[in-house]
Amino acid sequence: MNVKELLTNLSNAFGPAGFEDEVRELIQSLVKDFVDEIYEDTSGNLITLKKGTSSTKVMVDAHMDEVGLIISHIHGPFLRFQMLGGWDARLLPGQKVLIRTRSGNKIPGVIATIPPHIQSAEEMKKAFDVSDLYIDVGATSEEEVNAKAISVGDPVIVHSFAEVVGDDIVIGKAFDDRAGCAVLVKILERLKNSRLPYDLYAVFATGEELGLRGAKTSAYNVDPDFAISVEGTIAVDNPNIPPHKQPSHIDKGPVITIIDKSIVVNQRVVMFFEEVARRNSIPFQYKTPIFGSTNAGVIHLERGGTLSGVIAVPARYIHSPLSIIKISDFENTVELLHNILVELPATGLLKKKLRL
Ligand SMILES: [Zn+2]
Repeated sequence: MNVKELLTNLSNAFGPAGFEDEVRELIQSLVKDFVDEIYEDTSGNLITLKKGTSSTKVMVDAHMDEVGLIISHIHGPFLRFQMLGGWDARLLPGQKVLIRTRSGNKIPGVIATIPPHIQSAEEMKKAFDVSDLYIDVGATSEEEVNAKAISVGDPVIVHSFAEVVGDDIVIGKAFDDRAGCAVLVKILERLKNSRLPYDLYAVFATGEELGLRGAKTSAYNVDPDFAISVEGTIAVDNPNIPPHKQPSHIDKGPVITIIDKSIVVNQRVVMFFEEVARRNSIPFQYKTPIFGSTNAGVIHLERGGTLSGVIAVPARYIHSPLSIIKISDFENTVELLHNILVELPATGLLKKKLRL
């Protein structure tokens, strides 16, 4: 599958936190021929193993889930909902959504708005609270909702199809973190005929948007000697945001995390990533200042601790209905991770206990 198809198909897949099965099936079909073992754990994580020539274990991680919604109450013909993950609720009114029923049918709906004609000037200035919002599937009675088999607990995504613009831009709803998933797919494809000096576990994790949940069980089960989380991270090029508050930018290459709210990356790991990028002439940038959390935040604390790093594809407008990435940033992130994995055994970092 070419890069444009990979990114658009992964972004379009239905996978709010806790309901990642469609993403998992897609990734499984993409990588099964590149790995020696593949399984799903009880948290829903998809874990693949590519066997190497030693028992040392390196884990690469990306999360499959996207921010979504869940039906919480059926109110006559209308559906109340709650958020699965960190939305800015002000962006939701007017969005087209897809509700997935228990049987797997996808029912389109609209997050209702109140037309400006019937709002007062004062009301027009106020943002809606999520508790004021509801989904409208075009029904006029609760019986019509029931006839569509919509239930409390059905997951919902904002329905926005990915689109490739020109040669280098992709717009899609879920590059946090399907961009990271796509990086891991490309890495496994690239390594399919090589034998690494360690076992490589690629983990496609669940529930990151609800608090790094899948990463906790996968890190415990895999028990890696070294781990790298791959993200689609916050790029802000907005002219209204001062430069010192812009965490990263598109078109400046992969983003290396030094610190976020969940981890201070060991400086030896950061310096190794920098050296690999410089040696291979891969552009890179740092994520600044201290924003966000990633799966590395729990992976590095599991089982007595694991050296962990974070690299990311910069993506504008994550946690909104549409985000924007550049394919060149994506390709450079694949290139950086590939070189990190190849050069890692020579670093002395593949040990749970570091020599003094
Ligand atoms: Zn993410």
